[in-house]
Amino acid sequence: MAEYDYDLFVIGAGSGGVRAARIAAGHGARVAVAEEFRVGGTCVIRGCVPKKLLVYASHFAEELHDAAGFGWTIGEAKFDWAKLRDFVASDVDRLERAYTNTLDSNKVEHFAERATVTGPNTVRLASGREITAKIILIAVGAWPVMPAFAGNEHAITSNEVFHLSTFPKRVVIQGAGYIALEFAGIFNALGAEVTVVNRSDQILRGYEEDLRTRLLKITQERGIAYRFNSPIERVEKQGDGRLAVHTAGHPDPIIADVVMVATGRRPKTDGLGLENAGITLGKNGEVPVDAHNASACPSIYAVGDVTDRVQLTPVAIREGHAFADTVFGGTPRTIAYDHIPSAVFSQPPLAGVGMTEAEARSAGVNVKVFTSDFRPMKNMFASRPERGFYKLIVDADSDRVVGVHMIGPEAPEILQAVAIAVKAGLTKADFDATVALHPSMAEELVLMR
Ligand code: NDP
Repeated sequence: MAEYDYDLFVIGAGSGGVRAARIAAGHGARVAVAEEFRVGGTCVIRGCVPKKLLVYASHFAEELHDAAGFGWTIGEAKFDWAKLRDFVASDVDRLERAYTNTLDSNKVEHFAERATVTGPNTVRLASGREITAKIILIAVGAWPVMPAFAGNEHAITSNEVFHLSTFPKRVVIQGAGYIALEFAGIFNALGAEVTVVNRSDQILRGYEEDLRTRLLKITQERGIAYRFNSPIERVEKQGDGRLAVHTAGHPDPIIADVVMVATGRRPKTDGLGLENAGITLGKNGEVPVDAHNASACPSIYAVGDVTDRVQLTPVAIREGHAFADTVFGGTPRTIAYDHIPSAVFSQPPLAGVGMTEAEARSAGVNVKVFTSDFRPMKNMFASRPERGFYKLIVDADSDRVVGVHMIGPEAPEILQAVAIAVKAGLTKADFDATVALHPSMAEELVLMR
């Protein structure tokens, strides 16, 4: 008889949990996973994937507009939100099935219910069943934070935005981070009036400043309104069903059909019972872990957003994989957190890898900056005045490129490739020695002098 019901019990079937379960099972472990909602987690079910589909959908507005500059006459173009919403939902269903198949084909047992920790080696399912496991992996992710203001029951988060029954005419979005700016771009392009309200006077704090300034300018020109230093104080539902959004320091409310908040995501550990295993949560509710994803309890590990390190899917996947190789594969390894590329799928998108200019200067780097401020060829023809902006941060002592930051069409696609060069430690001379691929936007990367 085995000492435990399972070698590994994973709580949460998102990106990190599914990868860890699959790899551990491949190493011969007897694995089970509990998921209280849908297999796939935030990224697949209510995050990156459906969001990117909405970004693609909204881009057609720009393409249809720009087509005129290339000789096209397009008849009346109509957008149907319900159709798009349902297409996106069916693709999410397809992906959920694929993730579930992955668990099944790797012989990972799947409990479609909530599990909580009752001790270092025990979990309890919502149905009341107690299960023992040699190792427990916490991979429950994070959850949108809803700020405390009167009437916040009328506001939605990114969890609900994919399911709106009708397309809103006016949208207020609180927050100016990744989610807020991505959805501001989607709603704006699809024809809604959008106002972004934020508690500070900045968008995308932490991103390269020149890119943020450019994004603010372009999105304002595209019709997105901003109210800075003015968080929501209260939301009142009016007799006609519309929402009156009162923000700090402004006597006049903004009238909206939808109020969305995107003010960060908090580890989803409430009521998870980790105190029963002697684990003290961090100040954001996160599970503190070491470089090997081990918590203060020797039999409990955690990966992904619940650890509040880097809230990005590819990072959670790597953490889950490294955990499984370390604990069940006999090959202990940690993952590198340097040079993680990131992108904001705003319109236009921006992307970056490595240090910003401000970070490099405060790290004592002898900074040399190279920039390219250009009007993409397609924009020129389409009478679209928007300009792209690329910035290289170079360590003048070693000539190494320590950061690349870009705003412009396809910036995330281009950045992924250039991230390899930055991660590999290539120098500005290496960039310069590379022949330009003409005509492209990416050629700017090797033409900055
Ligand atoms: P972000 O941390 O990106 O932005 C939060 C925003 O909300 C900031 O503008 C912040 O203002 C504001 N804010 C924070 N707390 C409060 C509060 N209590 N009241 C009012 N405003 C507040 O969070 P998101 O929710 O946009 O995204 C969460 C995470 O999800 C991201 O950090 C990212 O890791 C991940 N994500 C990644 C994406 C991608 O890779 N493309 C896409 C979507 C999400 P300020 O900073 O100005 O004070």
